[in-house]
Amino acid sequence: MNKLSVLLLALILLFASCTGEDNDDSGFRIVASDFPSYDAARAIAGNDAEIVMLLPPGTESHSYDPTPRDMIRIAECDLVVYTGGPSDEWVRTIISSLDTPPASFALTDQVELLTEEHAEGMEEEEHDHNVHEIDEHVWTSPRNEIVIIRNLSELMAGLNLAMADDYRSNALSYISKIEEMDTAFRSIVQTGKRHTLIFASRFPLLYFVREYGLEYYAAFPGCAEESEPSARTVAFLIDKARELEVPCILNIELSSQMIADVIAEEAGCDVMVFNTLHNVTASDFYSGKNYVDLMGENVGVLREALN
Ligand SMILES: [Zn+2]
Repeated sequence: MNKLSVLLLALILLFASCTGEDNDDSGFRIVASDFPSYDAARAIAGNDAEIVMLLPPGTESHSYDPTPRDMIRIAECDLVVYTGGPSDEWVRTIISSLDTPPASFALTDQVELLTEEHAEGMEEEEHDHNVHEIDEHVWTSPRNEIVIIRNLSELMAGLNLAMADDYRSNALSYISKIEEMDTAFRSIVQTGKRHTLIFASRFPLLYFVREYGLEYYAAFPGCAEESEPSARTVAFLIDKARELEVPCILNIELSSQMIADVIAEEAGCDVMVFNTLHNVTASDFYSGKNYVDLMGENVGVLREALN
């Protein structure tokens, strides 16, 4: 967030505190910066909280800038849930500028963090290689997601005592579904003919592959801003796809499939989409698809990709 935004924020908050708007609502209000945060809060709260996702469905999560309305929502909510990495560090800036900040929960504070990795063949990034960025995509490991749901439900139960029992029981039933999915991933990896995935895209899945002991190649590390790989990177991925005889090239959701199509055609294999849950399409959002639905679609994809 730039200096102008911070100044704007200060003015907005001053104005909001003068008008005292929205203060007669006694419900428990949660603001989530992005889809993984929103999904976790929704799974625990069900209908027993008012939850707003600030990132519009279907949009790019890394370049999002908060609007004045987002700032007011954070200032007036009971709990803000956010990733806590580079893509929504503006949440911390807003919280720290408030005299009476809401309770907050960052997904990246709940688990052991990895730094972004530069795998063989990946596109070189322009910034200094010695600066290792934190990989913020912690939710892509189902085991991490279980810890996130458990910790968030405890925090929410403590903040909204009247609903504490509901929050805890909702969390337990969501966790049991994630555990089933984790078991499915593990058995696919155990019986799979191969253990390497090839992504023709960015690679926000380091926590996932580490959890299941998989190898990978990808065009870009983490969520690099570049999205057009060089001919050299494309050629490397084609060679790997041929050498390993993979049945499919993977692409992440909400990104162009052009490069994946080129590699798949050259290597004579299919293209499949692997959900990272960074954000969801508007139609998936409004139909209420959740982590279990979308990560669950990856079970079938992984089975194809490893056999
Ligand atoms: Zn990302």
